[in-house]
Amino acid sequence: MKSTMQDTPLSIGQLVRFGTSIHSSAEITTWTDSGPTTVTFGELGRRAAQLAHGLRSIGIDDDQRVGTFMWNNAPHMEAYMAIPAMGAVLHTLNIRLFPEQLTYIVNHAEDQVIIADASLLPLLTPLLPTFETVRHLVVVGVDPAQVTAPDGIEVLGYEDLLRSQPEEFDWPELDERSAAAMCYTSGTTGDPKGVVYSHRSIYLHSMQACMTDAMAIAQSDKVLAIVPMFHAMSWGLPYAALMVGASLIMPDRFLQPAPLAEMMSTLRPTAAAAVPTIWQALLSHLDEHPADLSSLRDVVVGGAACPPSLMKAFHEKYGVHISQAWGMTETSPLGTSGKPDAGLSPEDEFDLRCTQGRFVAGVRARLVGDAGEVLPWDGTTVGELEVRGPWITGSYYRADADDKFDDGWLRTGDVGTISEGGYLRLTDRSKDIIKSGGEWISSVELENQVMGHPAVREAAVIGVPDPKWDERPLVAVVVREGASVTAEELREFLDSRVAHWQLPERWTFIDEVPKTSVGKYDKKRLRSSHADGALE
Ligand code: ADP
Repeated sequence: MKSTMQDTPLSIGQLVRFGTSIHSSAEITTWTDSGPTTVTFGELGRRAAQLAHGLRSIGIDDDQRVGTFMWNNAPHMEAYMAIPAMGAVLHTLNIRLFPEQLTYIVNHAEDQVIIADASLLPLLTPLLPTFETVRHLVVVGVDPAQVTAPDGIEVLGYEDLLRSQPEEFDWPELDERSAAAMCYTSGTTGDPKGVVYSHRSIYLHSMQACMTDAMAIAQSDKVLAIVPMFHAMSWGLPYAALMVGASLIMPDRFLQPAPLAEMMSTLRPTAAAAVPTIWQALLSHLDEHPADLSSLRDVVVGGAACPPSLMKAFHEKYGVHISQAWGMTETSPLGTSGKPDAGLSPEDEFDLRCTQGRFVAGVRARLVGDAGEVLPWDGTTVGELEVRGPWITGSYYRADADDKFDDGWLRTGDVGTISEGGYLRLTDRSKDIIKSGGEWISSVELENQVMGHPAVREAAVIGVPDPKWDERPLVAVVVREGASVTAEELREFLDSRVAHWQLPERWTFIDEVPKTSVGKYDKKRLRSSHADGALE
């Protein structure tokens, strides 16, 4: 028997129509050199319509790809709205990829147009001759006459493209399963791989992001979206904000601790999201330059394991509650959310906060062993996490990657346990696992413990070859400014906190842990600079 319900598609066009009319007075504020600038969602809607007309005028039709090479700011939000809503495909380019990776993904996605921020042109323009399909470069914040491009690529000014275009666009009714946006993984192994989100997946993901026990985004919120719009769609925050009329605060290129602290104390966000290294840097900055963070009700940390010491420090010093979420570019990204049950003792509550959280509705999960067997959710059995659901990719764009899928499930490459109640506790990425004398050592657990020492600012643990044990952990430590600590003192500190056989013998003190293009510890680079396990 069929239902009697209307079969209207879930689409970005619907989100744009809704957010810019019902919530026309919600605001988006972008941080600039000369302070914040604000526009309303109503204005954004009119400008998104003009952008869609402008893109049509230069031949963008159907599902042609439009790349963005931009910071988090209002024009990028306009692109987020206009491009999918008009039926084209938004391709967010990660500005921090290596040049050859950018060339690869622009050509692989066959981008026709790239919209780029003026401040990023020095990174982009040298690559223009390598782009095979790009016909237009649309520049934001600079006179296009000042930008040179090879023959075959026309440079246009963003405002010129919008000027005199109608302020309304009849957003078409699209197939909800058609492509809306795409994002490439950072390609730590091999070429980056393209994940293509559908209108339906983005719509459903936005609803989930707003759920109370997920990110709880609501109309009354002001969301500071620090996580870049090219990193897994800023974790869904822009579309979630449109869905409920939450105001957005966009940091543009001002991602250093000082301006972020200023944004927090002057613009009073209620929620914020970023990877742990951003919060770690902010915490160190706040030690020297205290700021008022009292407006923050919820801070979401994800993308890498959040050290418990970081959560504790934010809570004790600033009253800020951090909750952890796990996800991937491939999972839109929300997979889990770390909001423990009510009524627990403070210790139990904190312990659960330190897990990656529980799977959200819509995401099915299982743990799989080396022989492909499905493992129990008992909180102790370790296996690889596999997930399945309506906002989880089932393949990569024009790429064979059968090894990444297992009978319809996405193999995440993440290793850990799941408790009876569905709490995920990751111990490692499979490529970072350390096997010492036949036993696993969790690099995440060691890092968390070392970062619990008051003199330590950052700690990253990698496995290095060892003649007796095959592999042993090496700890790279960044000491807090003004503090000092020796390897022997850190070993003593760890002695009561980890099993004796896990105690690392190898320590190295460095100025900064190398970071990936999305701000995570770059263990690949760390491994190559310490390939022989030598100490510095
Ligand atoms: P990249 O591959 O460049 O890191 P992604 O953001 O897609 O880009 O990375 C997804 C990976 O990040 C996950 O597979 C997992 O290893 C890691 N990750 C995400 N969230 C968490 C978390 N809360 N705790 C531990 N690891 C996490």
